[in-house]
Amino acid sequence: MIKLYEKQSYLRECEAVVTDCFTKDGSLYVRLDRTILFPEEGGQYADLGELVYGDNNLVRVLGGELTDKSGSDIIYRVDKEVPLGEVRCILDWDLRYERMQNHSGEHVLTGTIHNEFGYDNVGFHLSDDGPVTLDMNGVLTWEEVMEMERKANEIIYNNLPITDSYPASGELANMSYRSKIEIEGQVRLITIGDKDNPVDVCACCAPHVKTTGEIGIIKVISMVNWKGGVRISMLAGRRALRYINDRFDIIRNVTERLTTSFDNAPEIIDGYKKEIGESKVLINKAYVSLAEAVCKFSDKPFIFFDSDCPLSAMKNILSALINITDGYAGVFVGEDGSYRYMIGSKYKDSRIVASLLKEKLDARGGGKIDSIQGQVAACKDDIEKVLAGL
Ligand SMILES: [Zn+2]
Repeated sequence: MIKLYEKQSYLRECEAVVTDCFTKDGSLYVRLDRTILFPEEGGQYADLGELVYGDNNLVRVLGGELTDKSGSDIIYRVDKEVPLGEVRCILDWDLRYERMQNHSGEHVLTGTIHNEFGYDNVGFHLSDDGPVTLDMNGVLTWEEVMEMERKANEIIYNNLPITDSYPASGELANMSYRSKIEIEGQVRLITIGDKDNPVDVCACCAPHVKTTGEIGIIKVISMVNWKGGVRISMLAGRRALRYINDRFDIIRNVTERLTTSFDNAPEIIDGYKKEIGESKVLINKAYVSLAEAVCKFSDKPFIFFDSDCPLSAMKNILSALINITDGYAGVFVGEDGSYRYMIGSKYKDSRIVASLLKEKLDARGGGKIDSIQGQVAACKDDIEKVLAGL
């Protein structure tokens, strides 16, 4: 098995020979004599592609995996049986290129953090529908990671070469390089920058872009504390541009709705939030006054029904009504037939009312001696009948 992807990561097609086709766990697999398709390895998914044989017969390659730790044998999952013999192997290049941009971007960012803080990358995952995650074994602040992002992007602007090498074990012992895991057999090193004065050297098996300029951009999206260090989520290249453009559209949409500029949007939103907060307080106060006025002239117990009252006002209304009666007071908010309720009393046991509502109207809810709350699917007349005489 010749791994062409190691030395020729830009090869999109190659001739190969299918040497084996077999079934494993209900799926079809093939072995090739040479390959441009990277298998699932080191936190990165397998390349996708096609095999074409004979008179344009097309077989899709759905995955690839190593059969043992030595990495010398790869089997590819395919959607159809393939006859042994010559095939044309075609790589899903767009997917691979985005992965190369993101994988190489991860090297640059991790290398930058390693050089500045001495932290190591202890976990890596390259997802296709989310960001790349990298786990560093030390803590950073958001300001520090933003500074690392800025420095990593400077390495992109400098358009440094990214090269691979296969040093002999004696030579390797004297070299300084990053490695996520203990590697069996030949170590492949990925060097960024001048070989005599590199910005990063890391052991890695995956395909990378040729120069840092091709990474395009590195954007850190989030950072969370993770097992004593941090998990950083980032995107690079085309994926980063798509992500940034999607967010840019959201912000532009928001500023258009606010009829303001980008710069003024936070201040305008703060102003609206303040106004909404003040309005809520006023509305709640108005509902408390309304409930008091209605109940003062009604029979006991004091029960206030309303369809539009905000739920946030219920507690204030209940407190006000409890203060003007020795008996029970209550608030029912909702459409007739479906209410949320709160009931309480200064001197009486509210839990008695909860039991009564449950027994007569199949209400849900409960609470403590001084107040209960819940929901009831009943009309106002039936509720009033049950509560009458309490
Ligand atoms: Zn790599």
